[in-house]
Amino acid sequence: MYSGPGVKTSKDVPVPDTMRAWVLGNPGELKLVEKPVPVPKRAEVLVRIDAVAICATDLEIIDHGPPASILGGMPFNKNFTPGHEYMGTVAALGPGVDEYKIGQRVTVEIHAGCGQCKRCREGMYTSCHNYGLNYGDVDKGHRANGFTTDGGFCEYQVNNINTLVAIPDAMSDEEATLVVTAGTAMYGLTELGGLVAGESVVVTGPGPIGLLGVAVAKAMGASPVILTGTRDNRLKIGKELGADHVINVRNEDAVEAVRRLNGGKGVDYVVECSGAPNAVNDAIRMVNRGGKVCLAAFPHGETPVDVAHIVRNNIYLYGIRGEGKSATHRAEAFMSQKRFDATKIHTHTFPLDDLPTAIRYAKERIDDAIKVVVKARGVAAHRVAAE
Ligand SMILES: [Zn+2]
Ligand SMILES: [Zn+2]
Repeated sequence: MYSGPGVKTSKDVPVPDTMRAWVLGNPGELKLVEKPVPVPKRAEVLVRIDAVAICATDLEIIDHGPPASILGGMPFNKNFTPGHEYMGTVAALGPGVDEYKIGQRVTVEIHAGCGQCKRCREGMYTSCHNYGLNYGDVDKGHRANGFTTDGGFCEYQVNNINTLVAIPDAMSDEEATLVVTAGTAMYGLTELGGLVAGESVVVTGPGPIGLLGVAVAKAMGASPVILTGTRDNRLKIGKELGADHVINVRNEDAVEAVRRLNGGKGVDYVVECSGAPNAVNDAIRMVNRGGKVCLAAFPHGETPVDVAHIVRNNIYLYGIRGEGKSATHRAEAFMSQKRFDATKIHTHTFPLDDLPTAIRYAKERIDDAIKVVVKARGVAAHRVAAE
């Protein structure tokens, strides 16, 4: 029977001893295995995973390894379960936990910092100085599920209570998986200055973070909000999520278009979500003097940057990692108040057993896939949204 020292369970949410879990073998190779259901420790709960979204970073980890780091190294052949954008139902409470109830629906942030380093104490737990140190003699208790510890492509996972975000009954499982994505966009805007009401924002790259970046910026009162990209179908969704203007960079020069659309001046902020080779040089020419650029996408190689232009124009560059400073709570508040409809970027749902198919849809953008969600129960096999 499932149990652990000081762990509370309830017959309302029965917990089995073992679960189905996908594990990473060699690069690109996922295997479905049985694993023991993990047991929560102090300040942790067990979450029954009801839905998990696939992220471009998952594809990166599965095929190449970084930014995942398991036992201080590459994540291959270590019985590691990837997946990090999940939500579910609290199924067991670790010792001393009274902040959440069994049966409560939650979505989860990825990063539980160590809680004791300088950055964690500043609320920058996604930049924890003990990142990845959750094993061996120097175990600092850091967790980034799906990156440094087991993630969500399975049926149950333990989470630190600091990573939980309560969600209302009215929010669907699929929508709740998008809270972390919206939270990442929110964190970017927080780092740029926080209050963007009346200030001009460009978002470059209409991927999930970019599209929800548009939605969050608009909800925060930014004006105008301009989205650039190469795919008209995605730019159209950007308009539905609140972009005042969209620019297809295949048809016109993005820097010129941005300046024209903002009265000949550059904008106050750019949130760079494309990772395109010239994205940084374009972004620093889209902002006005003293403007700020948030870099939220990681390109593969090194990129030459016009440093002289940055210095002469007093431009600020911010790299952001993940969803720090409780940004997911603020993003969830916008979503539960229906300030924007994040489900516009959810396109497909597959059962957990069909994860490889789901990944193929996400990777190859089959049928215009944007966010592909996987569910352990309640989804018939081979059902796709287009049917
Ligand atoms: Zn992600
Ligand atoms: Zn820390």
